[in-house]
Amino acid sequence: PNAHKVVIIGGGAGGIAVAASLLKRQPGMDIAIVEPAEQHSYQPGWTMVGGGIFTPEFTRKPMHSVMPKGVHWYRDTATDIDAEAHEVTLGNGHRLRYERLVIAIGLELDWGAIDGLEETLGENGVTSNYRYDLAPYTWQLVQTLKGGKALFTQPPMPIKCAGAPQKAMYLACDHWQRENVLSQLEVSFHNAGGVMFGVPAYVPALEEAVAGYGIDVRFHQRLVAVDGETQTARFEVPAAEEGGEPQIVEQSFDMLHVVPPQKAPALIAQSGLANAAGWLDLESETLQHMSHPDIFGLGDVSGTSNAKTAAAVRKQSPVVVENLLATLTGGALTAGYRGYGSCPLTVENGRIVLAEFGYGGELQPTFPKWVNDGTRPTRLAWQLKARGLPFIYWNLLLKGHEWLARPASRDV
Ligand code: FAD
Repeated sequence: PNAHKVVIIGGGAGGIAVAASLLKRQPGMDIAIVEPAEQHSYQPGWTMVGGGIFTPEFTRKPMHSVMPKGVHWYRDTATDIDAEAHEVTLGNGHRLRYERLVIAIGLELDWGAIDGLEETLGENGVTSNYRYDLAPYTWQLVQTLKGGKALFTQPPMPIKCAGAPQKAMYLACDHWQRENVLSQLEVSFHNAGGVMFGVPAYVPALEEAVAGYGIDVRFHQRLVAVDGETQTARFEVPAAEEGGEPQIVEQSFDMLHVVPPQKAPALIAQSGLANAAGWLDLESETLQHMSHPDIFGLGDVSGTSNAKTAAAVRKQSPVVVENLLATLTGGALTAGYRGYGSCPLTVENGRIVLAEFGYGGELQPTFPKWVNDGTRPTRLAWQLKARGLPFIYWNLLLKGHEWLARPASRDV
Protein backbone atom coordinates (compact mmCIF):
# COMPACT_ATOMS: atom_id res chain seq x y z
CA PRO A 1 0.00 0.00 0.00
CA ASN A 2 0.89 3.68 -0.42
CA ALA A 3 1.86 5.19 2.92
CA HIS A 4 1.11 8.72 4.20
CA LYS A 5 1.76 10.48 7.47
CA VAL A 6 -1.88 11.59 7.67
CA VAL A 7 -4.80 10.19 5.70
CA ILE A 8 -8.04 12.19 5.76
CA ILE A 9 -11.25 10.54 4.57
CA GLY A 10 -13.71 13.11 3.20
CA GLY A 11 -13.03 16.42 1.44
CA GLY A 12 -16.02 18.31 2.82
CA ALA A 13 -15.89 21.11 5.35
CA GLY A 14 -14.05 19.06 7.99
CA GLY A 15 -11.55 17.23 5.78
CA ILE A 16 -10.38 20.30 3.86
CA ALA A 17 -10.20 22.45 7.01
CA VAL A 18 -8.01 19.91 8.82
CA ALA A 19 -5.68 19.44 5.83
CA ALA A 20 -5.25 23.20 5.39
CA SER A 21 -4.65 23.72 9.09
CA LEU A 22 -2.07 20.92 9.33
CA LEU A 23 -0.17 22.41 6.38
CA LYS A 24 -0.24 25.88 7.94
CA ARG A 25 1.51 24.46 11.00
CA GLN A 26 3.76 21.99 9.19
CA PRO A 27 4.35 23.04 5.57
CA GLY A 28 5.20 20.07 3.39
CA MET A 29 3.54 17.50 5.66
CA ASP A 30 2.66 14.26 3.85
CA ILE A 31 -1.16 14.35 3.74
CA ALA A 32 -3.63 12.39 1.60
CA ILE A 33 -7.34 13.11 1.19
CA VAL A 34 -9.74 10.45 -0.04
CA GLU A 35 -12.75 12.12 -1.68
CA PRO A 36 -14.75 10.97 -4.72
CA ALA A 37 -16.73 14.18 -5.41
CA GLU A 38 -15.66 16.59 -8.15
CA GLN A 39 -17.53 19.49 -6.51
CA HIS A 40 -17.33 20.95 -3.00
CA SER A 41 -20.52 22.51 -1.68
CA TYR A 42 -21.12 25.25 0.86
CA GLN A 43 -24.26 23.52 2.14
CA PRO A 44 -25.30 26.27 4.59
CA GLY A 45 -25.95 28.40 1.49
CA TRP A 46 -28.67 26.06 0.22
CA THR A 47 -31.25 27.54 2.63
CA MET A 48 -30.54 30.89 0.98
CA VAL A 49 -30.86 29.34 -2.52
CA GLY A 50 -34.28 27.99 -1.52
CA GLY A 51 -35.18 31.50 -0.33
CA GLY A 52 -34.07 33.14 -3.57
CA ILE A 53 -31.18 35.03 -1.96
CA PHE A 54 -28.14 33.10 -3.29
CA THR A 55 -27.68 31.55 -6.72
CA PRO A 56 -26.83 27.83 -6.64
CA GLU A 57 -23.46 28.58 -8.27
CA PHE A 58 -22.51 30.76 -5.29
CA THR A 59 -22.58 27.66 -3.06
CA ARG A 60 -20.28 25.40 -5.02
CA LYS A 61 -16.69 25.22 -6.29
CA PRO A 62 -14.68 22.55 -8.11
CA MET A 63 -13.09 20.23 -5.54
CA HIS A 64 -9.62 20.77 -7.03
CA SER A 65 -9.90 24.48 -6.27
CA VAL A 66 -10.36 23.89 -2.52
CA MET A 67 -7.76 21.10 -2.20
CA PRO A 68 -4.82 22.57 -0.28
CA LYS A 69 -1.63 22.65 -2.35
CA GLY A 70 0.64 19.72 -1.67
CA VAL A 71 -2.10 17.32 -0.55
CA HIS A 72 -2.28 13.99 -2.36
CA TRP A 73 -5.90 13.68 -3.55
CA TYR A 74 -7.26 10.17 -4.13
CA ARG A 75 -10.45 10.63 -6.20
CA ASP A 76 -12.15 7.62 -4.74
CA THR A 77 -14.41 6.38 -1.96
CA ALA A 78 -13.04 4.73 1.17
CA THR A 79 -14.74 1.33 1.43
CA ASP A 80 -13.03 -0.09 4.51
CA ILE A 81 -10.92 1.03 7.45
CA ASP A 82 -8.71 -1.55 9.14
CA ALA A 83 -7.79 0.20 12.38
CA GLU A 84 -5.53 -2.66 13.51
CA ALA A 85 -3.47 -2.62 10.29
CA HIS A 86 -3.68 1.21 9.99
CA GLU A 87 -5.04 0.89 6.46
CA VAL A 88 -7.83 2.37 4.41
CA THR A 89 -9.18 0.49 1.38
CA LEU A 90 -10.36 2.50 -1.62
CA GLY A 91 -13.14 1.70 -4.10
CA ASN A 92 -10.55 0.62 -6.69
CA GLY A 93 -9.12 -1.93 -4.23
CA HIS A 94 -5.93 0.00 -3.47
CA ARG A 95 -4.94 0.43 0.15
CA LEU A 96 -3.43 3.41 1.94
CA ARG A 97 -1.41 3.07 5.12
CA TYR A 98 -1.55 5.89 7.65
CA GLU A 99 0.25 7.02 10.78
CA ARG A 100 -2.73 9.14 11.74
CA LEU A 101 -6.25 8.97 10.31
CA VAL A 102 -8.88 11.72 10.28
CA ILE A 103 -12.46 10.70 9.48
CA ALA A 104 -14.70 13.46 8.10
CA ILE A 105 -17.17 11.70 5.81
CA GLY A 106 -20.29 13.56 6.96
CA LEU A 107 -23.62 11.78 7.23
CA GLU A 108 -26.00 10.03 4.85
CA LEU A 109 -29.32 11.47 3.71
CA ASP A 110 -31.80 8.59 3.74
CA TRP A 111 -34.21 9.66 0.97
CA GLY A 112 -35.20 6.02 0.43
CA ALA A 113 -36.64 5.75 3.95
CA ILE A 114 -39.72 7.69 2.81
CA ASP A 115 -41.91 5.64 0.47
CA GLY A 116 -42.42 7.21 -2.95
CA LEU A 117 -40.24 10.23 -2.23
CA GLU A 118 -37.31 9.62 -4.59
CA GLU A 119 -39.64 9.09 -7.58
CA THR A 120 -41.27 12.49 -7.16
CA LEU A 121 -38.49 14.77 -5.83
CA GLY A 122 -38.18 17.80 -8.07
CA GLU A 123 -41.73 17.32 -9.48
CA ASN A 124 -45.34 17.63 -8.35
CA GLY A 125 -44.44 20.36 -5.88
CA VAL A 126 -42.07 18.10 -3.86
CA THR A 127 -38.72 19.68 -3.01
CA SER A 128 -35.87 19.85 -0.50
CA ASN A 129 -33.16 22.38 0.33
CA TYR A 130 -30.99 19.41 1.36
CA ARG A 131 -29.87 18.86 -2.25
CA TYR A 132 -27.95 21.28 -4.46
CA ASP A 133 -30.07 20.51 -7.50
CA LEU A 134 -33.40 20.82 -5.64
CA ALA A 135 -32.92 24.04 -3.66
CA PRO A 136 -33.65 26.17 -6.78
CA TYR A 137 -36.92 24.21 -7.22
CA THR A 138 -37.92 25.31 -3.69
CA TRP A 139 -37.57 28.95 -4.77
CA GLN A 140 -39.43 28.27 -8.01
CA LEU A 141 -42.36 26.75 -6.08
CA VAL A 142 -42.38 29.58 -3.54
CA GLN A 143 -42.59 32.14 -6.33
CA THR A 144 -45.40 30.41 -8.21
CA LEU A 145 -47.62 29.31 -5.30
CA LYS A 146 -50.50 31.76 -4.81
CA GLY A 147 -52.85 29.60 -2.76
CA GLY A 148 -53.39 26.08 -1.38
CA LYS A 149 -51.45 23.99 1.09
CA ALA A 150 -47.70 24.21 1.81
CA LEU A 151 -46.24 21.49 4.04
CA PHE A 152 -42.78 21.54 5.64
CA THR A 153 -41.39 18.46 7.38
CA GLN A 154 -38.67 17.70 9.92
CA PRO A 155 -37.40 14.13 10.53
CA PRO A 156 -36.21 12.68 13.88
CA MET A 157 -32.93 14.01 15.29
CA PRO A 158 -30.02 13.99 14.76
CA ILE A 159 -29.91 15.93 11.49
CA LYS A 160 -27.41 18.40 10.09
CA CYS A 161 -28.43 21.97 10.82
CA ALA A 162 -31.46 21.21 12.97
CA GLY A 163 -32.95 24.63 12.17
CA ALA A 164 -32.89 24.20 8.37
CA PRO A 165 -36.36 22.57 8.07
CA GLN A 166 -38.03 25.63 9.60
CA LYS A 167 -35.67 28.15 7.97
CA ALA A 168 -37.02 27.03 4.58
CA MET A 169 -40.54 27.63 5.86
CA TYR A 170 -39.96 31.11 7.29
CA LEU A 171 -38.24 32.37 4.14
CA ALA A 172 -41.14 31.03 2.05
CA CYS A 173 -43.72 32.65 4.35
CA ASP A 174 -41.82 35.93 4.28
CA HIS A 175 -42.05 35.95 0.47
CA TRP A 176 -45.75 35.04 0.50
CA GLN A 177 -46.39 37.81 3.02
CA ARG A 178 -44.63 40.37 0.82
CA GLU A 179 -46.64 39.16 -2.18
CA ASN A 180 -49.90 39.37 -0.20
CA VAL A 181 -50.76 35.72 -0.75
CA LEU A 182 -49.96 34.30 2.69
CA SER A 183 -53.61 34.56 3.74
CA GLN A 184 -54.61 32.36 0.78
CA LEU A 185 -52.20 29.65 1.92
CA GLU A 186 -52.45 27.01 4.62
CA VAL A 187 -48.91 26.49 5.92
CA SER A 188 -48.13 23.62 8.27
CA PHE A 189 -44.95 22.33 9.93
CA HIS A 190 -44.86 18.58 10.56
CA ASN A 191 -42.14 17.87 13.09
CA ALA A 192 -41.25 14.29 14.08
CA GLY A 193 -39.95 15.71 17.37
CA GLY A 194 -41.78 17.49 20.13
CA VAL A 195 -40.10 20.92 20.32
CA MET A 196 -39.35 23.77 17.90
CA PHE A 197 -35.65 23.79 18.87
CA GLY A 198 -33.55 21.74 21.28
CA VAL A 199 -32.19 24.77 23.17
CA PRO A 200 -35.04 26.55 25.04
CA ALA A 201 -33.51 30.06 24.88
CA TYR A 202 -34.28 30.28 21.14
CA VAL A 203 -37.83 28.90 21.27
CA PRO A 204 -39.73 32.14 22.11
CA ALA A 205 -38.40 33.93 19.00
CA LEU A 206 -39.38 30.94 16.85
CA GLU A 207 -42.84 30.75 18.38
CA GLU A 208 -43.31 34.43 17.56
CA ALA A 209 -42.34 33.76 13.94
CA VAL A 210 -44.77 30.82 13.76
CA ALA A 211 -47.61 32.91 15.21
CA GLY A 212 -46.79 35.90 12.99
CA TYR A 213 -47.04 33.83 9.79
CA GLY A 214 -50.02 31.82 11.07
CA ILE A 215 -48.25 28.47 10.71
CA ASP A 216 -49.99 25.34 11.99
CA VAL A 217 -47.36 23.34 13.94
CA ARG A 218 -47.93 19.59 14.36
CA PHE A 219 -45.49 17.85 16.68
CA HIS A 220 -44.81 14.07 16.61
CA GLN A 221 -45.77 13.77 12.95
CA ARG A 222 -43.18 11.79 11.00
CA LEU A 223 -43.36 11.77 7.20
CA VAL A 224 -43.40 8.12 6.01
CA ALA A 225 -44.73 8.27 2.43
CA VAL A 226 -45.36 10.65 -0.44
CA ASP A 227 -47.60 10.15 -3.45
CA GLY A 228 -46.50 12.71 -6.00
CA GLU A 229 -49.29 12.19 -8.52
CA THR A 230 -52.13 12.75 -6.06
CA GLN A 231 -50.03 15.24 -4.04
CA THR A 232 -50.62 13.42 -0.78
CA ALA A 233 -48.23 13.08 2.18
CA ARG A 234 -48.60 10.38 4.79
CA PHE A 235 -47.47 10.90 8.40
CA GLU A 236 -47.12 8.50 11.29
CA VAL A 237 -48.35 9.82 14.64
CA PRO A 238 -47.94 8.03 17.97
CA ALA A 239 -50.90 6.09 19.33
CA ALA A 240 -53.36 8.10 21.40
CA GLU A 241 -53.20 5.51 24.19
CA GLU A 242 -50.15 3.84 25.63
CA GLY A 243 -49.44 0.48 24.02
CA GLY A 244 -51.65 1.28 21.01
CA GLU A 245 -50.65 1.20 17.35
CA PRO A 246 -49.26 4.37 15.74
CA GLN A 247 -51.78 6.07 13.46
CA ILE A 248 -51.34 7.21 9.87
CA VAL A 249 -52.74 10.59 8.86
CA GLU A 250 -52.92 11.85 5.28
CA GLN A 251 -52.55 15.40 4.15
CA SER A 252 -52.89 16.81 0.63
CA PHE A 253 -50.45 19.48 -0.53
CA ASP A 254 -49.62 21.90 -3.32
CA MET A 255 -46.02 22.25 -2.11
CA LEU A 256 -44.08 19.84 0.12
CA HIS A 257 -40.62 20.70 1.49
CA VAL A 258 -39.03 17.50 2.80
CA VAL A 259 -36.01 17.12 5.04
CA PRO A 260 -34.92 13.47 4.76
CA PRO A 261 -34.06 11.23 7.72
CA GLN A 262 -30.30 11.16 8.30
CA LYS A 263 -28.03 8.37 9.42
CA ALA A 264 -24.42 7.51 10.11
CA PRO A 265 -22.47 6.13 7.12
CA ALA A 266 -22.35 2.31 7.29
CA LEU A 267 -18.55 2.40 6.87
CA ILE A 268 -18.14 3.52 10.49
CA ALA A 269 -19.95 0.57 12.08
CA GLN A 270 -18.55 -1.86 9.49
CA SER A 271 -15.03 -0.83 10.49
CA GLY A 272 -15.73 -1.26 14.22
CA LEU A 273 -15.37 2.47 14.94
CA ALA A 274 -18.96 3.29 15.90
CA ASN A 275 -20.79 4.02 19.13
CA ALA A 276 -24.05 2.21 19.87
CA ALA A 277 -25.99 4.49 17.51
CA GLY A 278 -23.57 3.98 14.60
CA TRP A 279 -21.77 7.34 14.75
CA LEU A 280 -17.97 7.73 15.03
CA ASP A 281 -17.06 7.06 18.66
CA LEU A 282 -15.03 10.12 19.64
CA GLU A 283 -14.01 11.51 23.02
CA SER A 284 -16.16 14.63 23.22
CA GLU A 285 -13.43 17.12 24.20
CA THR A 286 -10.29 15.89 22.38
CA LEU A 287 -12.09 14.42 19.31
CA GLN A 288 -9.76 11.43 19.49
CA HIS A 289 -11.29 8.02 18.85
CA MET A 290 -12.30 6.25 22.07
CA SER A 291 -10.37 3.04 21.34
CA HIS A 292 -7.89 3.97 18.59
CA PRO A 293 -5.64 6.87 19.66
CA ASP A 294 -4.25 7.29 16.12
CA ILE A 295 -7.73 8.11 14.77
CA PHE A 296 -9.47 11.49 15.04
CA GLY A 297 -12.69 12.74 13.55
CA LEU A 298 -14.91 15.77 13.15
CA GLY A 299 -18.03 17.07 11.48
CA ASP A 300 -21.38 15.41 10.93
CA VAL A 301 -20.06 11.83 11.26
CA SER A 302 -19.14 12.40 14.89
CA GLY A 303 -21.10 10.80 17.70
CA THR A 304 -20.52 13.79 19.98
CA SER A 305 -23.70 15.57 21.09
CA ASN A 306 -23.00 18.98 19.46
CA ALA A 307 -25.20 20.43 16.71
CA LYS A 308 -24.09 19.01 13.35
CA THR A 309 -23.06 22.23 11.60
CA ALA A 310 -20.22 23.77 9.61
CA ALA A 311 -19.93 26.16 12.55
CA ALA A 312 -19.04 23.18 14.74
CA VAL A 313 -16.39 22.13 12.20
CA ARG A 314 -14.83 25.60 12.47
CA LYS A 315 -14.17 25.05 16.19
CA GLN A 316 -13.40 21.33 15.92
CA SER A 317 -10.75 21.56 13.22
CA PRO A 318 -8.02 23.28 15.29
CA VAL A 319 -8.74 20.91 18.18
CA VAL A 320 -8.24 17.86 15.95
CA VAL A 321 -5.09 19.37 14.45
CA GLU A 322 -3.42 20.36 17.72
CA ASN A 323 -4.22 17.05 19.39
CA LEU A 324 -3.20 14.98 16.37
CA LEU A 325 0.15 16.77 16.20
CA ALA A 326 0.59 16.22 19.94
CA THR A 327 0.22 12.45 19.48
CA LEU A 328 3.02 12.54 16.89
CA THR A 329 5.46 14.04 19.39
CA GLY A 330 4.19 12.15 22.44
CA GLY A 331 2.74 15.30 24.03
CA ALA A 332 -0.47 15.63 26.03
CA LEU A 333 -3.75 16.43 24.27
CA THR A 334 -4.27 19.98 25.44
CA ALA A 335 -6.85 21.33 22.96
CA GLY A 336 -10.46 21.03 24.04
CA TYR A 337 -13.74 21.30 22.13
CA ARG A 338 -16.68 22.58 24.17
CA GLY A 339 -19.40 21.46 21.79
CA TYR A 340 -19.87 24.77 19.94
CA GLY A 341 -22.34 24.72 17.08
CA SER A 342 -24.39 27.43 15.47
CA CYS A 343 -27.62 27.68 13.57
CA PRO A 344 -28.52 31.04 12.03
CA LEU A 345 -32.34 30.82 12.11
CA THR A 346 -33.67 32.85 9.18
CA VAL A 347 -37.00 33.88 10.68
CA GLU A 348 -37.47 36.42 7.86
CA ASN A 349 -35.63 37.82 4.84
CA GLY A 350 -33.43 40.40 6.59
CA ARG A 351 -33.35 39.15 10.18
CA ILE A 352 -31.87 36.11 11.89
CA VAL A 353 -31.85 34.51 15.33
CA LEU A 354 -28.17 33.56 15.66
CA ALA A 355 -28.34 30.43 17.84
CA GLU A 356 -24.86 29.58 19.18
CA PHE A 357 -24.52 26.92 21.84
CA GLY A 358 -22.31 24.11 23.14
CA TYR A 359 -22.58 20.83 25.01
CA GLY A 360 -25.61 20.60 27.27
CA GLY A 361 -27.25 23.57 25.54
CA GLU A 362 -24.84 26.08 27.12
CA LEU A 363 -25.19 29.41 25.27
CA GLN A 364 -21.85 30.33 23.63
CA PRO A 365 -22.48 33.62 21.82
CA THR A 366 -19.64 35.09 19.75
CA PHE A 367 -20.81 38.67 20.35
CA PRO A 368 -21.68 40.42 23.61
CA LYS A 369 -25.43 40.95 24.00
CA TRP A 370 -25.26 44.69 23.27
CA VAL A 371 -23.75 43.94 19.84
CA ASN A 372 -26.05 41.04 18.97
CA ASP A 373 -28.65 39.38 21.17
CA GLY A 374 -28.57 35.79 19.91
CA THR A 375 -32.02 34.97 21.24
CA ARG A 376 -33.74 37.71 19.18
CA PRO A 377 -33.94 38.26 15.40
CA THR A 378 -31.34 40.86 14.32
CA ARG A 379 -30.22 42.53 11.10
CA LEU A 380 -26.57 42.12 12.06
CA ALA A 381 -26.96 38.33 12.16
CA TRP A 382 -28.57 38.47 8.70
CA GLN A 383 -25.60 40.40 7.32
CA LEU A 384 -23.33 37.80 8.89
CA LYS A 385 -25.19 34.93 7.21
CA ALA A 386 -25.62 36.65 3.84
CA ARG A 387 -22.09 38.07 3.57
CA GLY A 388 -19.78 37.15 6.45
CA LEU A 389 -20.21 33.41 6.79
CA PRO A 390 -19.69 32.42 3.13
CA PHE A 391 -16.46 34.45 3.19
CA ILE A 392 -15.37 32.86 6.46
CA TYR A 393 -16.13 29.39 5.06
CA TRP A 394 -14.21 29.68 1.77
CA ASN A 395 -11.39 31.98 2.84
CA LEU A 396 -10.74 31.21 6.50
CA LEU A 397 -12.05 27.73 7.37
CA LEU A 398 -10.99 25.98 4.17
CA LYS A 399 -7.64 27.82 4.14
CA GLY A 400 -6.62 26.96 7.70
CA HIS A 401 -6.88 30.52 9.10
CA GLU A 402 -8.08 30.01 12.63
CA TRP A 403 -7.97 33.31 14.46
CA LEU A 404 -11.75 33.13 14.93
CA ALA A 405 -11.58 29.60 16.32
CA ARG A 406 -8.88 29.31 18.96
CA PRO A 407 -9.39 26.09 20.91
CA ALA A 408 -9.86 26.10 24.68
CA SER A 409 -7.06 24.57 26.76
CA ARG A 410 -7.82 21.39 28.65
CA ASP A 411 -6.52 20.63 32.10
CA VAL A 412 -4.28 17.62 31.64
P1 FAD B 1 -19.61 17.33 4.50
O1 FAD B 1 -19.27 18.75 4.31
O2 FAD B 1 -20.97 16.85 4.11
O3 FAD B 1 -18.50 16.50 3.72
C1 FAD B 1 -18.40 15.10 3.73
C2 FAD B 1 -17.54 14.68 2.54
O4 FAD B 1 -17.17 13.30 2.68
C3 FAD B 1 -18.25 14.80 1.21
O5 FAD B 1 -17.47 15.57 0.33
C4 FAD B 1 -18.40 13.36 0.72
O6 FAD B 1 -18.31 13.24 -0.69
C5 FAD B 1 -17.24 12.68 1.41
N1 FAD B 1 -17.43 11.25 1.67
C6 FAD B 1 -18.54 10.62 2.13
N2 FAD B 1 -18.32 9.31 2.24
C7 FAD B 1 -17.04 9.09 1.85
C8 FAD B 1 -16.23 7.92 1.76
N3 FAD B 1 -16.68 6.72 2.10
N4 FAD B 1 -14.96 8.07 1.30
C9 FAD B 1 -14.48 9.29 0.96
N5 FAD B 1 -15.20 10.42 1.04
C10 FAD B 1 -16.47 10.31 1.47
N6 FAD B 1 -24.13 24.42 8.95
C11 FAD B 1 -23.95 25.63 9.57
O7 FAD B 1 -22.96 25.81 10.25
N7 FAD B 1 -24.85 26.65 9.42
C12 FAD B 1 -25.94 26.51 8.62
O8 FAD B 1 -26.72 27.44 8.49
C13 FAD B 1 -26.15 25.28 7.96
N8 FAD B 1 -27.21 25.11 7.15
C14 FAD B 1 -27.35 23.95 6.43
C15 FAD B 1 -28.40 23.84 5.54
C16 FAD B 1 -28.56 22.72 4.76
C17 FAD B 1 -29.70 22.64 3.79
C18 FAD B 1 -27.61 21.65 4.87
C19 FAD B 1 -27.73 20.43 3.99
C20 FAD B 1 -26.56 21.75 5.77
C21 FAD B 1 -26.42 22.89 6.56
N9 FAD B 1 -25.38 23.03 7.50
C22 FAD B 1 -25.20 24.23 8.15
C23 FAD B 1 -24.56 21.86 7.89
C24 FAD B 1 -23.16 21.81 7.27
O9 FAD B 1 -23.24 21.89 5.87
C25 FAD B 1 -22.50 20.51 7.69
O10 FAD B 1 -22.56 20.38 9.09
C26 FAD B 1 -21.03 20.45 7.26
O11 FAD B 1 -20.93 20.47 5.86
C27 FAD B 1 -20.35 19.21 7.85
O12 FAD B 1 -19.07 19.01 7.32
P2 FAD B 1 -18.49 17.54 7.13
O13 FAD B 1 -17.11 17.70 6.64
O14 FAD B 1 -18.73 16.73 8.35
O15 FAD B 1 -19.43 16.88 6.01
